[in-house]
Amino acid sequence: MPEIILKPAREKSLLRRHPWVFSGALDQVVGAPQPGETVDVLTVKGEFLAKAAYSPHSQIRARVWTFDQNEAVDADFFRRRIDSALALRITLGLSTVSDAMRLIHAESDGLPGLIVDRYGEVLVLQSLTAGSEFWRDTLADILLEKTGASAIYERSDADVRELEGLPIHTGLLRGKMPSLPLTIQEFGVKFLVNVETGHKTGFYLDQRQNRQRVGVLAYGRDVLNCFCYTGGFSLHAAAAGAKTVLSVDSSADALALGQENARLNGQTGAGLEWREADVFQALRKFRDERRSFDLIILDPPKFAATVSQAEKAARGYKDINLLAFKLLRPGGILATFSCSGGIDVALFQKIVAGAALDAGVEAAIVEQLAQDGDHPISLHFPEGAYLKGLICRKI
Ligand code: SAH
Repeated sequence: MPEIILKPAREKSLLRRHPWVFSGALDQVVGAPQPGETVDVLTVKGEFLAKAAYSPHSQIRARVWTFDQNEAVDADFFRRRIDSALALRITLGLSTVSDAMRLIHAESDGLPGLIVDRYGEVLVLQSLTAGSEFWRDTLADILLEKTGASAIYERSDADVRELEGLPIHTGLLRGKMPSLPLTIQEFGVKFLVNVETGHKTGFYLDQRQNRQRVGVLAYGRDVLNCFCYTGGFSLHAAAAGAKTVLSVDSSADALALGQENARLNGQTGAGLEWREADVFQALRKFRDERRSFDLIILDPPKFAATVSQAEKAARGYKDINLLAFKLLRPGGILATFSCSGGIDVALFQKIVAGAALDAGVEAAIVEQLAQDGDHPISLHFPEGAYLKGLICRKI
């Protein structure tokens, strides 16, 4: 087996079971491993550390499959990892609340680079790294066998593939697709999901629990849902008895699907309004018009993927949170989220606190939210924690 040998003292993170080997830690490559091929990772003294997928074009030069020298990386290995991931979803009881869930969450499920989401009978597979690409067909076969899905659709079109030197790849991978869009349900609310063109693999599954939680707070209230995508929070709020729901997004396609989703759920009343706009501008317009709301949801896209972008992202978060605090009526609720990996819980709370201060309002956190359990966070891979949310009450 080809080997990669680390520079002296660069094995520390691997000994703590963090699964990444950065290019700067690498001293030597022995043999000529192909992209994605399994290599042994050794200390400078030749001690075994891990078996990993080699990724010659990436800054993350190798990602660990196993820390066990006696465990072969083969189809059976992937079968065991997939079994374990599926068992977790069963333990979580997710199928009692929804027929859509993340089945494989990459590093956090011991399968770096692999994302698999289930939408009813269809799986959507996203391969992000040379390692997951190398094993893609094996993984697809096992997934089909283990889940009984009728089709696997590939959505390997994430930007990060470029860093791995991988081309974009989308299309049917296994089986036969039912007609699109697919229909899923989440806590009884139905959603159309377009797995071919939707964001991510089609839907923001990580917010499942939070959509329901925030929906419960909407009864009898005037709700503003910013960055609404296809109406996730909006339809849960409407289903829970919101008086009005104004949904804002910059994507006309997302809004069109949102309106279809409303019809699908029989939400045809005049209280639901959909607006195509930039949220930063829309919030200013509402402020100038002296509009106010009882419940405001802010679920923006990722502003900072890495810590280096955190400062610029912080300004964006502060801006929208400040405006939202101003638009809230006294006693109103702000449900504010960040999915930026580069901003941790503590920093996010600080930004929201700064926004309240500058808006001149008193507010308290009444609940802290995170990504749903089908997006687990390996204790050895804190990078897996990316979604955080605060429910704040304006006093
Ligand atoms: N809350 C949604 C997911 C939001 S994803 C759910 O539960 O499904 C973020 C959304 O923000 C995307 O739909 C994207 O189109 C939208 N978006 C990105 N930048 C925007 C901007 N400046 N103004 C308005 N919408 C924006």
